[in-house]
Amino acid sequence: MRTYTKDYLKQVQALKDEIENADAIVIGAGAGMSTSAGMIYDGERFHKYFQDFINQYGFEDMYSGGFYPFDTLEEYWAYWSRYIYINRYMDAPKPVYENLLRLVEDKDYFVLTTNVDHCFQKAGFDKHRLFYTQGDYGLWQCSVPCHQKTYDNKEIVLRMVEEQKDGRVPTELIPHCPVCGRPMTMNLRADSTFVEDEGWHIASERYTEFLCRHKNGKVLFLEFGTGINTPGIIKFSFWRMVYDWPDALYACINLKEAYAPEEIRKKSICIWADIGEVLERMGHE
Ligand SMILES: [Zn+2]
Repeated sequence: MRTYTKDYLKQVQALKDEIENADAIVIGAGAGMSTSAGMIYDGERFHKYFQDFINQYGFEDMYSGGFYPFDTLEEYWAYWSRYIYINRYMDAPKPVYENLLRLVEDKDYFVLTTNVDHCFQKAGFDKHRLFYTQGDYGLWQCSVPCHQKTYDNKEIVLRMVEEQKDGRVPTELIPHCPVCGRPMTMNLRADSTFVEDEGWHIASERYTEFLCRHKNGKVLFLEFGTGINTPGIIKFSFWRMVYDWPDALYACINLKEAYAPEEIRKKSICIWADIGEVLERMGHE
């Protein structure tokens, strides 16, 4: 059981005040946000849904299973369809995203996220205020890609989950590109084949426009659970803007590491704690 110090409670209250006082809030969310919401990719949750694959292939967690070179597309999609279903179409176990929405829904906010699990939209965030930079488990694209378009996968994924047997999906469910006929793949940024479709570009423009509109206002950059894998997208760009903009403030809530560089420390609130706990506390006080 963790005990909370006076400093911690003061910081949480200070952050709550800043949320209330801000003209605009830019939310940046990384993997730690979903981890706090119970989207865990190993341990109990992994065993609960993937015991048959663990027995057959010896996988240790969901991520590494996703990189396994399956012999056939029938096996590949048996694994991936279940992975997509659990992490994209089922609700997150804990209401962390919902609690964040309650705090900011009356504010002028925008969300930038490297998460691909759709949790913001599932929790009811306005989709016109979201920019998913790294893709979406709910979208497929041509594996080449021969054209810059993405396709909703829900209907086929549900059938794959339902109809898979002995670790294989029926051959007729394997998705192929409607243009060139080659296999489809996930719309996830892994290399230069990632498709940035029309929706991606519109969201990107909306984000840029939001920043332009607010750069001289009282802006709170609110960062949740951003790791060290892709710091350039959220963390470094937030630090830069807080440094450059006259009335901007940086807040970081992270269970692994909450930190701000010396140059902006006086404009920062860093809370080294579980995101879900902090949000719940702010909702009650
Ligand atoms: Zn194609």
